[in-house]
Amino acid sequence: MKLKKITLLFGRICSGKSSYKPKEYRIVVSNIVKGIISKSTREELQNTIHLDEKIGEALVMVIDRVAEDVESVIVDGIRQVSIVKMILQHYPDAELIWLEVPVEERKRRYESRKDIKDVEPFDIADNKPIELLCQDIFTIFKEELKVINNYMELLKKANGNIPRTEEEKARMIEQAAEYYGQFLTALGFDWKADPHSDRTPHRVAKAWVKDLIAGSMAEEPEVTAFPNDEQYTGLICQTRIPVMSLCAHHNLTFSGVAHVAYIPGKEKDDLVIGLSKLNRIVDFYSRRPNIQESLTKQIHDHIARLCVGNRGVAVVVESQHNCVRCRGIKQDSVMKTSQMSGYFWTNEVGTRQEFFNLIDQSRY
Ligand SMILES: [Zn+2]
Repeated sequence: MKLKKITLLFGRICSGKSSYKPKEYRIVVSNIVKGIISKSTREELQNTIHLDEKIGEALVMVIDRVAEDVESVIVDGIRQVSIVKMILQHYPDAELIWLEVPVEERKRRYESRKDIKDVEPFDIADNKPIELLCQDIFTIFKEELKVINNYMELLKKANGNIPRTEEEKARMIEQAAEYYGQFLTALGFDWKADPHSDRTPHRVAKAWVKDLIAGSMAEEPEVTAFPNDEQYTGLICQTRIPVMSLCAHHNLTFSGVAHVAYIPGKEKDDLVIGLSKLNRIVDFYSRRPNIQESLTKQIHDHIARLCVGNRGVAVVVESQHNCVRCRGIKQDSVMKTSQMSGYFWTNEVGTRQEFFNLIDQSRY
């Protein structure tokens, strides 16, 4: 579903209006204290759910409900701006967001303004006052909206990549630290009181952005490909390339090594790449939340794309997953995955065996 218009309404607008009938996809948001919206009013609102859970859960539910075509949602205790931010993250295509504030707040804001007469709590069926107010509030929130509208695009897949600027990364660290603090609080830690933990949210956020998921936001590594002018026809192999990744299911690290090989094409203009570039490619895909199967394929496909004319690419990843070691079954085991194409796949003249022998020889 593509939302063209999301309307956010606050406060009394949604109280005591028995004639209220949502006509379009609409999120009705109340940031006034819980209880102002009467029970009977709530019951009158068809397809309305009332949320007073913690912010994170509530936001997720708002989004879920919108996706399910529920016509209205009431949320208590959340800042309008947080809602707008969240909606824009999920619906970057939203063309218009209307904001309304509780009547008292509205009065306070408009007191000094002569061009706008106070408007009574209005009937939602009457478009005029809504339009007037929304236009004006849009102006009031302009600065905030400007910031929010520039809010970063979100990755649809955990192992995706969107290059971010240093400024964006700094903002991510700041915001992620704030949420991680809430995460610790939710787990019952007064982390601010402990000198070993009071900077932990910041450290965690920084470790994610700078190291653990750096590949999610880095530019693709620059890899120069050279023509195979000597018409080398053998196997090119790099073994034991370190892999440090993050399991997308549990967000716990998994680490090990990758072995990669390819056979270049035999024509002069077929391409070969520098060996260390194979390491860079492995690192680029490892440093993001992933599952090992996809990681193996991503590495394979990238090499296959760069080495134009290649006659086969092989990637083997061996790693130990902390989600297996530390939780659940709690055992040490090694997961091996392989992705092969061309000669490696067909095992032409024992190519696959040759690759496996090279891997075996590289073991310490
Ligand atoms: Zn896992």
